[in-house]
Amino acid sequence: MQFRSFNPPVRTLMGPGPSDVHPRILEAMSRPTIGHLDPAFVQMMEEVKALLQYAFQTKNELTMPVSAPGSAGMETCFANLVEPGDQVIVCQNGVFGGRMKENVERCGGSAIMVEDTWGEAIDPNKLEEALKANPEARIVAFVQAETSTGAQSDAETLVKLAHQYDCLTIVDAVTSLGGTPVKVDEWGIDAIYSGTQKCLSCTPGLSPVSFGERALEKIRNRKQKVQSWFMDLNLVMGYWGSGAKRAYHHTAPINALYGLHEALLMLREEGLENAWRRHMNNHLALRARLEALGLTFIVNEADRLPQLNAVSIPAGIDDAEVRNRLLNEYNLEIGAGLGALAGKVWRIGLMGHASRAENILLCAGALETILSDLGADTGRAAPQAALEEVLA
Ligand SMILES: *Cc1c(COP(=O)(O)O)cnc(C)c1O
Repeated sequence: MQFRSFNPPVRTLMGPGPSDVHPRILEAMSRPTIGHLDPAFVQMMEEVKALLQYAFQTKNELTMPVSAPGSAGMETCFANLVEPGDQVIVCQNGVFGGRMKENVERCGGSAIMVEDTWGEAIDPNKLEEALKANPEARIVAFVQAETSTGAQSDAETLVKLAHQYDCLTIVDAVTSLGGTPVKVDEWGIDAIYSGTQKCLSCTPGLSPVSFGERALEKIRNRKQKVQSWFMDLNLVMGYWGSGAKRAYHHTAPINALYGLHEALLMLREEGLENAWRRHMNNHLALRARLEALGLTFIVNEADRLPQLNAVSIPAGIDDAEVRNRLLNEYNLEIGAGLGALAGKVWRIGLMGHASRAENILLCAGALETILSDLGADTGRAAPQAALEEVLA
């Protein structure tokens, strides 16, 4: 076998993540590696924490990136907050809520499931019924932005309800952070995790998390040690904590953190509100183009995530064939359906740096050509036929 350097094709990433990474971020990641206890690096870590506080809209001291992808942020929240025997209410309206259930059970807790239809937002009334019926429950967990369906739930309302029944909240903001409002302090979220490869447009592999005072109190009063040594926040904070001795815990992913620093700096330069507005405006533009092709969204208008557009695959159209052609002919990646929606929907991401006008034009144009080729009713003359007519 002949081995050579790997040179990936240049793609446009409009799936459910990873999203297009800005060249500034890739350039930052290629800078020289220094020691993870180097004072210059420690100074950069402090900036990453402050920039993350901005992104999460929080003053929480314990705000930092876990050294692994979004799933590790999820586990960090559950491993530290759930103890054996704890009852945890998990609202599920897609794939990722199911993973929360797994996490609760693997921590020795019992998950009380509140099920909503996939593609719909979480119903606060159902949560309230569950809270009334399970007075022992002390934690409520839910996904704010369900990437598997493109539905957005009302985090503020759900958190308020949980607090009325004396429950802490664990919120999945992997797809929302940087794309749609996430206001940790204003909404009173107790524990939250996100990812770097969705609307922050960084490379995958880090998971920003933030914990409020109530969550810390529960962690401090645990009866047993956190089962996971790597994710035990008491130990991690010896490295990341402010004023900490910066004791060695694990070697931080130095260059990945350069990337996150640059990504957060770019978010700060643009301004959160502007980033949210850009995601919404681009969603509206893509929506207009997709609907003109006869494609329909699976989520109600009011609950749609602007950064994740899930549309039904037209009858008679082969899912894989279209996605393969997009990749091979246009270097364009869109997402397939996940779980119960596999083969039924496409998930078109407009996340972070991928949320820009030229991507909308590329994606809508490519879909129009391919769908007309395959005989779908796109409501317009096939572009190829139109072109041939002009040339004739
Ligand atoms: C992508 C995603 C995750 C998992 O993140 P990874 O970085 O893939 O581990 C968790 N929750 C939601 C809602 C996601 O979209």
